[in-house]
Amino acid sequence: MSTIMEQARRGEVSPLMKEIARKEGVSEEFIRNGIASGRICAPHNPVHDAEPAAIGEGLSIKINVNLGTSRDMVDLDSELQKLQVALKYGADAVMDLSTGGDIDAIRARLLKECPVMMGSVPIYQTGLTAARRNAVVEMTEDDIFNGIERHAKDGMDFMTVHCGITKESVGWLKRAGRTTDVVSRGGSFLTAWILHNEEENPLYKNFDYLLEMARKYEFTLSLGDGFRPGCIDDASDQAQLTELMTLGHLVLRAREAGVQSMVEGPGHVPLDQVPMNMRLEKRLCHDAPFYVLGPLVTDIAPGYDHIVGAIGGAVAAQNGADFLCYLTPAEHLSLPDVDDVREGVIASKIAAHVGDLSRGIGRERDSRMARARKALDWETMFDTCIDEDKARRYRCRGCTEESEGCSMCGDVCAIKIVNTYMKKDREGEWEPLEGIEPPAHGLRNRCSTAEPQWH
Ligand code: SF4
Repeated sequence: MSTIMEQARRGEVSPLMKEIARKEGVSEEFIRNGIASGRICAPHNPVHDAEPAAIGEGLSIKINVNLGTSRDMVDLDSELQKLQVALKYGADAVMDLSTGGDIDAIRARLLKECPVMMGSVPIYQTGLTAARRNAVVEMTEDDIFNGIERHAKDGMDFMTVHCGITKESVGWLKRAGRTTDVVSRGGSFLTAWILHNEEENPLYKNFDYLLEMARKYEFTLSLGDGFRPGCIDDASDQAQLTELMTLGHLVLRAREAGVQSMVEGPGHVPLDQVPMNMRLEKRLCHDAPFYVLGPLVTDIAPGYDHIVGAIGGAVAAQNGADFLCYLTPAEHLSLPDVDDVREGVIASKIAAHVGDLSRGIGRERDSRMARARKALDWETMFDTCIDEDKARRYRCRGCTEESEGCSMCGDVCAIKIVNTYMKKDREGEWEPLEGIEPPAHGLRNRCSTAEPQWH
């Protein structure tokens, strides 16, 4: 059976590609060609059969939300609530990173409830099983590949595989003089394994076997960045870049085998180095879709790392990143709760939208908001904003039925004054922008207190 990439190379436009083209507002040929070349990937394991979606060049920026239990916090209901919140606010992908409780059962349930593409990091489960038996470094090659196959059979659309950690890059890591060495969990498992066993990384050594498996089950390789910098002082060093160059070679081997791949990226990077890191990935990894964590552009804001990540994410997206992994306020501190997930998703959606704007995508929504603001049309503003619930709560502070403006300026609302004297009150004169329907309720200037949410 041929893979999605092989179909595209044969010139076939599958229903999956057609639906992606429709959602992205691009031609079917653009999607087919992008998948054929490897500049776009469409993770889609037929067992899961997620909503069609794609990541890469010329497409809207996607965001991923990490969910999953930990050893200390095992609550499937809470993870399911987080999943619903993530979907409500527009997560394009979800990763199950569970490390506590019945990991197989949790993964199966999340997959069942998740309509968007889903990924995992199988080596977490493999390493934990070995650690509980005795030690992480006692994982066998069979353990590692059996774990990947189990996740593939369950339906994972993409999987993080840390194939770029090699004896050579571990050598550079030892000489790098890093402050935080390795902060990737999967990266730490494999680094310890290589050092202890004095053998090559099984995922690198047996990459052809991994490709066979990816072909058989149709999952996308997310080539992990095990040596991503864990603090801005460690950014862009030899260990990081040696791994990135290795991943570039593996991207080509995956393409030769007809397997879709994307590349994961840094980590903690100061803002001035973000554009360079994005361009280097595109150059060294042959324009493969780039999936970045954050990046985090400062180390000193625990509790606010969703903001730190959104700043880095927006600049990364402007400079070539295609897929943003969200961060929550709990990053570096604890497993996130439902509210943390909400905050994190919204921050990441803002970064993705800002990135889209820099690529000429999604501008109509901002134009719609601007026109609604000028018309003091609160309902359209609420319809248009990323977090309607929060906007409604804030609007209700100090507003009355008669309030046209808001409680910021009260009766000296600048917009109201200028509208009045320039006679530009356009109530009832909505002129829709191309592709944007007028709101069903028409333009309304009054504060909508029909269903106030006083929190
Ligand atoms: S009252 Fe001030 S802040 Fe509020 S809508 Fe009018 S101009 Fe804007």
